[in-house]
Amino acid sequence: MAAMIDGKALAERVTREAAMRAAALASERGIVPGLAVILIGDDPASRIYVDRKLSQAGKAGVRSFEHRLPADTPEAALLRLIAACNADPAIHGILVQLPLPPQIDSARVLDAIDPAKDVDGFHPVNVGRLSTGTGGLVPCTPLGCMRLLETVIEDFRGLKAVVIGKSNIVGKPVALLLLERECTVTVTHILTRGLPAIARTADILVAAAGSPGLVEGSWIKPGAVVIDVGINRVTGVDGRARIVGDVAREGVDHAAAITPVPGGVGPMTIACLLTNTVRAAERHGA
Ligand code: NAD
Repeated sequence: MAAMIDGKALAERVTREAAMRAAALASERGIVPGLAVILIGDDPASRIYVDRKLSQAGKAGVRSFEHRLPADTPEAALLRLIAACNADPAIHGILVQLPLPPQIDSARVLDAIDPAKDVDGFHPVNVGRLSTGTGGLVPCTPLGCMRLLETVIEDFRGLKAVVIGKSNIVGKPVALLLLERECTVTVTHILTRGLPAIARTADILVAAAGSPGLVEGSWIKPGAVVIDVGINRVTGVDGRARIVGDVAREGVDHAAAITPVPGGVGPMTIACLLTNTVRAAERHGA
């Protein structure tokens, strides 16, 4: 039977660690970590993500600054808000919830965030730092994947890792983090040929395709560790909506360990966002 990697419990621990660091920062330097969360429009999924982030912030000792703007907000107004957050010493992290409405150029917005406050790790400076292994702020979901893997893998060196998905948000950064730990990494995507056979070579399999149940049990090598990043809303036979991952749940018993969906990567993403905010505050003026 594959062990379940409990992302919820780990996220609670990581959030407690962040809270301890935030408390030390407040008592030693009088700094309270501040996170600006900017949501444009009323996309229901984005609203849920933002509400979750805001509800967890207090638990990590992070003060949140909430900005909810209408869907027709012009790009110039968003850039002005980001400039104000960049200049505000009470704010150490800035999160702009994606996706943005069509009149706004996401790349221009991400470029406008001070890299030192870019707690999502999407600014080109932080992407460059990750790819050269020179520090910087690392995207939260990939960071969460690594923390989950660390609960079951002691030594990553030489392990074969296969990442399904090559997005800037998950696939590419998780591949870079695995490479940094000296795994042998294969990154795959929708046009990869022979994906099941490639997946079967993996000691570590990270599924981040956004395709419900894509990875079947027969794709998983016995003893592999599987991280299921997918969050897919599907309608069950009973007509009710539920959330499933990218990995089918039958026939996966031969894996060594697997993350559940929900309760795996999702909670860790938020915990890592708060950790990044505390880290950005620790570096503030350092
Ligand atoms: P994306 O759409 O930007 O990228 C998906 C990637 O998967 C692409 O590179 C695409 O080529 C590849 N892909 C799609 N279908 C495939 C298939 N059938 N075979 C092989 N490759 C395929 O998505 P994303 O933003 O990287 O997110 C991926 C999934 O992870 C989504 O379900 C998303 O909801 C989820 N996600 C979860 C968290 C979290 O906190 N748990 C965070 C971010 C994203």
